[in-house]
Amino acid sequence: MFALDQVCKRYGQATALDGITLTFERGRTTALIGPSGCGKSTLLRLLIGLLTPDAGSVRFDAQPLEAASLRRLRQRMGYVIQQGGLFPHLTARQNVTLMARHLGWSQARIAPRLADLTALTHFPADGLDRFPSELSGGQNQRVALMRALMLDPEALLLDEPLGALDPMIRYELQEELKQIFATLGKTVVLVTHDLAEAAFLAHAIVLMRAGRVVQAGCLTDLMTAP
Ligand code: ADP
Ligand code: ADP
Repeated sequence: MFALDQVCKRYGQATALDGITLTFERGRTTALIGPSGCGKSTLLRLLIGLLTPDAGSVRFDAQPLEAASLRRLRQRMGYVIQQGGLFPHLTARQNVTLMARHLGWSQARIAPRLADLTALTHFPADGLDRFPSELSGGQNQRVALMRALMLDPEALLLDEPLGALDPMIRYELQEELKQIFATLGKTVVLVTHDLAEAAFLAHAIVLMRAGRVVQAGCLTDLMTAP
């Protein structure tokens, strides 16, 4: 679904990614794991086209992520960041439906989709007309997930989606994410620095250090590697 070939990315003098070649399989959940600063977020932002590589190529569904096709390809991806990234001046409902309304979806199309998403994410219906500041951290992340799923994207890119949550809420949401991934069967790329979370949620794990891939494979491969 995604393919990176010899991707390099620098910020000024600092090298964030140093020759990454990787593929992410359709319908699978892959976790990107590694210490803070190793390049995980940068890699995710390249996958969604928020950044462009200095060298190498990024493809989505065999098509290069380049300016001409970016908008169209981006609509096939959902993106969630650690602190939700919700618009603070919009209610949960407005945040979730913003893109659909922008694309001209009718109320008759939006309403059932919203009902499906609140059920899927266990979001309370009476929270839909609250603003992000009136919702808990866990509820904000549910809203962010609904927003990412609204247009039924093929790929879901999650950057430490549970990283800012209290442990109990975090475990609860891990269970729910696992259910959601299994139900929807989407291509998921999950950034985390928690190996247990990666092992629990992902089919494949990519271990990174200092802008490079140290190892990639399923968990048992990683555990049994020399
Ligand atoms: P991770 O997500 O694994 O914590 P990042 O992709 O955020 O890593 O960062 C990789 C490296 O690039 C780090 O050394 C970080 O400090 C640097 N970096 C990230 N974003 C920027 C930026 N906007 N400007 C300069 N350096 C950055
Ligand atoms: P993460 O590790 O989740 O990417 P950070 O806290 O490292 O988060 O970075 C938060 C923001 O700051 C990001 O937009 C990142 O690109 C930027 N950033 C990270 N490192 C640097 C840096 N050395 N110089 C400038 N901006 C940076």
